[in-house]
Amino acid sequence: APQAELQQQEGEEIVFRSKLPDICIPNHLPLHTYCFQNLSAVASKPCLINGTTGEVYTYEEVELTARRVGSGLNKLGIREHEVIMLLLPNTPEFVLSFLGASFRGAIVTAANPFCTPAEIVKQVKASGAKLVITLAGYVDKVKEFALDNGVMIVCIDSAPEGCLHFSELKQADERDLPAVEIDPEDVVALPYSSGTTGLPKGVMLTHKGLVTSVAQQVDGENPNLYFHSEDVILCTLPMFHIYALNSIMLCGLRVGAAILIMQKFEIGMLLELIQKHKVTIAPMVPPLVLAIAKSSETDKYDLSSVRMMKSGAAPLGQELEDAVKVKFPGAKFGQGYGMTEAGPVLAMGLGFAKEPFEIKSGACGTVVRNAEMKIVDPGTGLSLPRNQAGEICIRGDQIMKGYLNDPEATARTIDKDGWLHTGDIGYIDDDDELFIVDRLKELIKYKGFQVAPAELEAMLIAHPDIADAAVVAMKDEEAGEVPVAFVVRSEKSQISEDEIKQYISKQVVYYKRIKRVFFAETIPKAPSGKILRKELRAKLAAGNH
Ligand code: AMP
Repeated sequence: APQAELQQQEGEEIVFRSKLPDICIPNHLPLHTYCFQNLSAVASKPCLINGTTGEVYTYEEVELTARRVGSGLNKLGIREHEVIMLLLPNTPEFVLSFLGASFRGAIVTAANPFCTPAEIVKQVKASGAKLVITLAGYVDKVKEFALDNGVMIVCIDSAPEGCLHFSELKQADERDLPAVEIDPEDVVALPYSSGTTGLPKGVMLTHKGLVTSVAQQVDGENPNLYFHSEDVILCTLPMFHIYALNSIMLCGLRVGAAILIMQKFEIGMLLELIQKHKVTIAPMVPPLVLAIAKSSETDKYDLSSVRMMKSGAAPLGQELEDAVKVKFPGAKFGQGYGMTEAGPVLAMGLGFAKEPFEIKSGACGTVVRNAEMKIVDPGTGLSLPRNQAGEICIRGDQIMKGYLNDPEATARTIDKDGWLHTGDIGYIDDDDELFIVDRLKELIKYKGFQVAPAELEAMLIAHPDIADAAVVAMKDEEAGEVPVAFVVRSEKSQISEDEIKQYISKQVVYYKRIKRVFFAETIPKAPSGKILRKELRAKLAAGNH
């Protein structure tokens, strides 16, 4: 506190830092080298456990197979800086492919396999992916585009006509993997996110950025009780989202823990796997916390192995937090706060540090080490002191390099001084704990999944019966938020709520479906043309729609 206050007196920015000291981060290393830096110590330990089949892959096997996959990608013509897409549920092959691409100096963009063909093709095109790794059941979603555009398809189960089988990659000779010079600034992961406004964009995460982010969470002297090599980490959150990719997969690999991969979420199966594999770390999102809190089956299982539960990706209410704690009395519960563009972790609870700090209910931890955070008044742009809410901004080596092929969107998000503006509203209290209170940006989060209003609005406006439209979030107990639309019908149009819902449903993945349509005379807009979403959200909250 004194340091921040001193700065303010001098008229400088008020900057907040971690309660833990900075550490030395080896972020000159390629991501795969960093993840396997302690390989000799954990070589014969379980690395990946396939929750469906019980099959176990040791660290040695994973590292060797990843190099083979890298060599196989090379054999198929994948070169440095080229993109491959993973269109996969959680599977060992996801991890092997990601690491294989890293070894090859290539880039991974991942997509939710439940997305519609149009959504997937859009991402393949935008990212320039040369190869898609998927399941046979999803091939039809990309086949036509792939055939017309020379994109290769590799399947991990069977190999339908025109596709290669994953064994082609896995059985390549690791000695043929070319020596690749990786610059720490090279991109390795390209998740898609709409950020604070507009359509989904490719978020360029570099080797340096991801190494920094993982180190901020699990390296160094102090939080070494956070994750360690004896841990069994549950991975039921989707690896195609950066939360699981970074905070489960990469952090798990770095510390030499076992990663228990669950392909499909089902509550009974989840509880059984926790008991069977003595899971110690259970990363979650609010809807999963809700499912566990409400489940009557939890009493039937021994869940005492869990020492730590964490929730992130969306706001978690205090009642829910209290309800789930009862089910895991031996576990500490902490929230984390992430945003894809921020690498993704900005803040986390330190209740697991060597000298633990108290975890406050409702807080999402303190800013990560080797980073700076400030809270900015959205009106004046000035940094705010403790206990005053404003836009959360973060600076450090972990944040994205920028949006792919979109310098304007990049400049709107990362300012000239290197601060990333999150579009989230929060404050930092007297104990350096961050509380998120609101969202300035238009993003909607359905069970932690992103829904970009601009994407749905573009589809709505493209309909001849719709003159204007706006999409905003409506609160929902189960999903957190759901997208709803305000629609101005074209002159003489009689289009109904159901017709509009169906029109959208055909084009989008399930969580982007519009839950309600409210017909309106006009859409409130600022003189600049910007939709006044706050007004619409207030209308919803007041039940006045
Ligand atoms: P994504 O890029 O998909 O991870 O979404 C990032 C956004 O999710 C953040 O900017 C927040 O709006 C929201 N979010 C993530 N973690 C939390 C949290 N612990 N509490 C509240 N909102 C969160």
